[in-house]
Amino acid sequence: MKRKVGSGQQDTESQGQPCADAGEPACLMSGVPLVIDTDGWLCAARRVPSPNFDARADGVCVDMVVLHNISLPPGEFGGEDIERLFTNTLDCTMQPFYTGLRDLRVSAHFLLRRDGELVQFVSCHDRAWHAGVSHWQGRERCNDFSIGIELEGSDYVPFTDAQYLKLDALLNALQRSYPIQSLVGHNDIAPQRKTDPGPFFDWKRVAESR
Ligand SMILES: [Zn+2]
Repeated sequence: MKRKVGSGQQDTESQGQPCADAGEPACLMSGVPLVIDTDGWLCAARRVPSPNFDARADGVCVDMVVLHNISLPPGEFGGEDIERLFTNTLDCTMQPFYTGLRDLRVSAHFLLRRDGELVQFVSCHDRAWHAGVSHWQGRERCNDFSIGIELEGSDYVPFTDAQYLKLDALLNALQRSYPIQSLVGHNDIAPQRKTDPGPFFDWKRVAESR
């Protein structure tokens, strides 16, 4: 299986671990593993709820992680427009490129910014709208059973060390909560339409750290 990760074993002991009561939450301290809480939210992520999601079907097994890249405006990093897009608050008159985004209703579970900051838009328990028309190994509609992670980046520049480090920690957290079997790119599941996370994403580096 392509880029198969982990054994699929769940470690339910790690679920529901609370944040510290006072001061810096334990989950934000360096060296402390990231934890998905029982509601499907990552304690260490900045939470920016998106309305662009719906419930997963009853009993669905979340066993895939899909990696994307995104930058808004294209090729520019560090602004707020990705969060605005995912919360339907982007001013689509600001840029000619944004005109085509006007009616989009999209989201992802996570955005991993260039400096390693994690933003979460949708609970992992719910279905974020990140993959669109897609298929993988005979299954359609990969949104149904996947977690979507957007890496702030593009098809034309390398990703940052901070992103690779935090991605590894996030994948570990997801594997502790879900029986993840496949780690794929958007280009793998929608090859006619998508190129992300793009040629600069270092799959080998990710695999070697797993
Ligand atoms: Zn994508």
